[in-house]
Amino acid sequence: MELLNLTIDGFKSFAKPTSFELNKKIIAIVGPNGSGKSNIVDAIRWLLGEQSSKQMRIDDRTDVIFSGTEKLKPAKIAKVFLTLKNEKNEIFEIGKILDKNSGKYLLNNKTSTLKELHSIFSNGGVGKQFYSIISQGQVSDIVKSSPEDLRDLVLGIIDIGKYLKEKETSLKLLEKTSENLERLKDVLFETE
Ligand code: ATP
Repeated sequence: MELLNLTIDGFKSFAKPTSFELNKKIIAIVGPNGSGKSNIVDAIRWLLGEQSSKQMRIDDRTDVIFSGTEKLKPAKIAKVFLTLKNEKNEIFEIGKILDKNSGKYLLNNKTSTLKELHSIFSNGGVGKQFYSIISQGQVSDIVKSSPEDLRDLVLGIIDIGKYLKEKETSLKLLEKTSENLERLKDVLFETE
């Protein structure tokens, strides 16, 4: 999956429509503290359905709408659009729009759902938790995490947690069945 273009408008510190060409192998965004570098990554996270207010660094979901400055009026709507190319070289444009009352997702200019947006990423590390976007905080969390937490992290990344749970359920069922079988043998022995 390749990110081609990102357009942010009315989102956090981006008062006016701002576009970024992303079709390069390595992209560095530089700027003074507080100039909005992290807000660019927040825009991508937000568009991809990030729900955590901690990750989004907001208190209320509408806090992402540009709140205005002395010179600029607050925005009424926050919009983020991302153009991407998948492994089959198909190009998609996904978008998210939010006003004070409601929000919606767009796929190729048509109203869509987050689930539909995620479906075009199949196995791209985009889901309930994002491991394709690693923030500064996450790096130190990983460095400081316990072996158990690290294991959970790796399991989350390779997404085998659900299979481990299924294995546990199956093993319990197997154990129960073996017990039942033993009991049945006893009953058979007594009736012979
Ligand atoms: P640093 O280098 O310190 O990490 P940064 O360049 O990553 O900074 P950001 O954290 O992206 O900066 O941007 C912070 C700025 O965004 C702050 O000035 C904050 O006031 C502004 N900001 C955040 N939300 C909004 C909003 N809804 N409306 C207007 N400005 C906002």
